[in-house]
Amino acid sequence: MSESPERVDEIFSADVFSRAVMRQRLPKEVYKSLLRTIDRGEPLDSKVADVVAATMKDWAVENGATHFTHWFQPLTGLTAEKHDSLVSPDGQGGVVFNFSGSDLVQGEPDASSFPSGGLRATFEARGYTAWDPTSPAFLIRGQGGTVTLCIPTAFVSWTGEALDTKIPLLRSMEALSKQARRILKVFGTDAGVSQVFTTVGPEQEYFLIDRDLFFARPDLLSCERTLFGSRPPKGQQLEDQYFGTIPARVLACMHEVERELWRLGVPVKTRHNEVAPGQYEIAPLFEQSHIASDHQMLTMETIKRVAQRHGLAALLHEKPFAGINGSGKHNNWSMSTDTGVNLLDPQDETHTNLQFLVFLVAVMRAVDLHADLLRASIASAANDHRLGANEAPPAIISIFMGAMLSDILEQVEQGLPKRTLRGGTLDLGARTLPQLPRHSGDRNRTSPFAFTGNKFEFRAVGSSASIAWPNTVLNTIVAESLDYIATELEKAGANPSPAKLQEAVLKILKREIKEHKRVIFDGDNYTPEWHKEASKRGLPIMADSVAAFPILKSKKTVDLFKAYGVLNKAEVDSRYHISVEKYVKQIGIEADTAVTIARTMVLPAALQHQELLAGALNGLESAGVKSPEQKKALEDFAGLVSALRKTTAKLEKAAAHHSDDPYKHAQHIRADVKPAMAELRGVVDTLETWVASELWPLPTYQDMLFLE
Ligand code: ADP
Ligand code: MG
Repeated sequence: MSESPERVDEIFSADVFSRAVMRQRLPKEVYKSLLRTIDRGEPLDSKVADVVAATMKDWAVENGATHFTHWFQPLTGLTAEKHDSLVSPDGQGGVVFNFSGSDLVQGEPDASSFPSGGLRATFEARGYTAWDPTSPAFLIRGQGGTVTLCIPTAFVSWTGEALDTKIPLLRSMEALSKQARRILKVFGTDAGVSQVFTTVGPEQEYFLIDRDLFFARPDLLSCERTLFGSRPPKGQQLEDQYFGTIPARVLACMHEVERELWRLGVPVKTRHNEVAPGQYEIAPLFEQSHIASDHQMLTMETIKRVAQRHGLAALLHEKPFAGINGSGKHNNWSMSTDTGVNLLDPQDETHTNLQFLVFLVAVMRAVDLHADLLRASIASAANDHRLGANEAPPAIISIFMGAMLSDILEQVEQGLPKRTLRGGTLDLGARTLPQLPRHSGDRNRTSPFAFTGNKFEFRAVGSSASIAWPNTVLNTIVAESLDYIATELEKAGANPSPAKLQEAVLKILKREIKEHKRVIFDGDNYTPEWHKEASKRGLPIMADSVAAFPILKSKKTVDLFKAYGVLNKAEVDSRYHISVEKYVKQIGIEADTAVTIARTMVLPAALQHQELLAGALNGLESAGVKSPEQKKALEDFAGLVSALRKTTAKLEKAAAHHSDDPYKHAQHIRADVKPAMAELRGVVDTLETWVASELWPLPTYQDMLFLE
């Protein structure tokens, strides 16, 4: 990529088979037909697919593409590709470019290599990728000038079950759209609205470290987190100092990430300053959830790919360094009509403000009823290091409404709201309602689920996770609450008078607020008092993933997903199994890696250091100098070395345990393996502070976190 500054507007979407490109290149009728599929979900005409494929191929080839791939998101939480050439020999010494409608519409990767959580019997390991026309195709430019046409696809089993994260997300958006439109209809604000979209703007945190140091640490290489490492003497206290001092190559890397993403049509804005040393953030402008989700995957991949070119390694893990802030993904979420109205924006118009309160209360009801599922949707071995730690959102799901909204909800509940609150206020139209502030000025950084002006921010999503699944859950639980409220409101009859409508709305709001306000918490989520209070309120408290996983397969969850056509029972079960398996595998790899590092790197270094001490003592003694202190130091150190051997053996033994039932295995890991890892780490980290630095075999936190 050239270093010359390119104007954003010139490169934005340059590598996307965008609407503009399609409008320009496709025959009018074909373009229109395709738009009906994209915007209104109408079935795709196979003749249309042939024409689109031909046009897409020409466009891709003109831009240097030689291969195409169906790009999909299997349940690994990553993306997958299978590249096929666009080129075939023409038999006369030349080549032709082949890409048919069926190449575009359907693919058949070897599905057996992707996890299905039991959805497919291995002998029937068929899976298909199916073109998702709602997400535009794009070109990926690799090293050495390779250009690949990437076609976003859904991934399904031969029985039609979703093997990916995208299909359920699309289904959940449809479910929410249907229910939200019922609410709009009641309010008479549905004119011209054919869909309600959920929107997402995910903020991504990540670390950048030197690539050579990354390769010098087997734990980073295979686990993307440090299993050992004592805190640097200053560590995070340096945060003030760190602001603004971004090393030149990091800056160069960020700009290249931005440029590449702009070419892919991802509307990113980089933010540099994160709290921890070496930590950065990138955030896009929000988009419809399924596009935002695809773009989020591209963002993660692009950060990793570009970092390499700058001699850096990007760490997207939730907790690469103990004792240093972890990374999350703030999932900013809202609902919007296809006519552009943000349904969580407290607008000025009379009836839309009541409408706003309905949508607000629907979210509150949903989060209270399904806090456990929301918690489970972000559960992973990696996120366990972060949630509930002091700098991350707690594992208890509650909502921050802000003083103004909380106050309004309280007043609605009492039925006689009369206070006008400070700041830019909004006329709620109904005299019985107070005036509503457009933005509450205060922010609460400790809340896992915060209202921030015109959207909710779900902050507990892990930095390495796909956002598709938590958003699928969020959309589905809100769809259910909208359904519930719409059903109540529809009882007021078609086209109710404003007075009747208002009465019906206030009645239900009052009831639901009373019922679900326990989920609102505007205070400091990090305090032990909140844990006590939350348990008094009966909020679900699941301290770790192992506690949260079973929620995924509970009857309540299965019924919910089934009712809204998002996942059938087998699909829900498969997600439960995959989550548990991933947990078991991940920590299994970590434990094995820890044992290997301890035995093959740390122990030899410690023995050498011991040698050094023993030699020095020997020297003193043979010179007739008595030094009980040095003898004691050697004894202490030898004790540490013994502890190292002991704790290594203990971890090895714990990690060797296997259970055929993956959930039992996960429980064993939590009960035995994790504590053994912590114990070993304690010894190794202590050794790090004693062993001669030139003998220490691993780059230290100091080395990694303070990039030059
Ligand atoms: P901060 O978190 O610091 O308040 P911003 O308010 O700028 O940052 O927004 C953070 C993210 O929220 C951005 O990605 C932004 O696009 C996104 N966002 C803003 N409005 C919406 C919305 N209606 N729906 C979804 N995301 C939104
Ligand atoms: Mg934020």
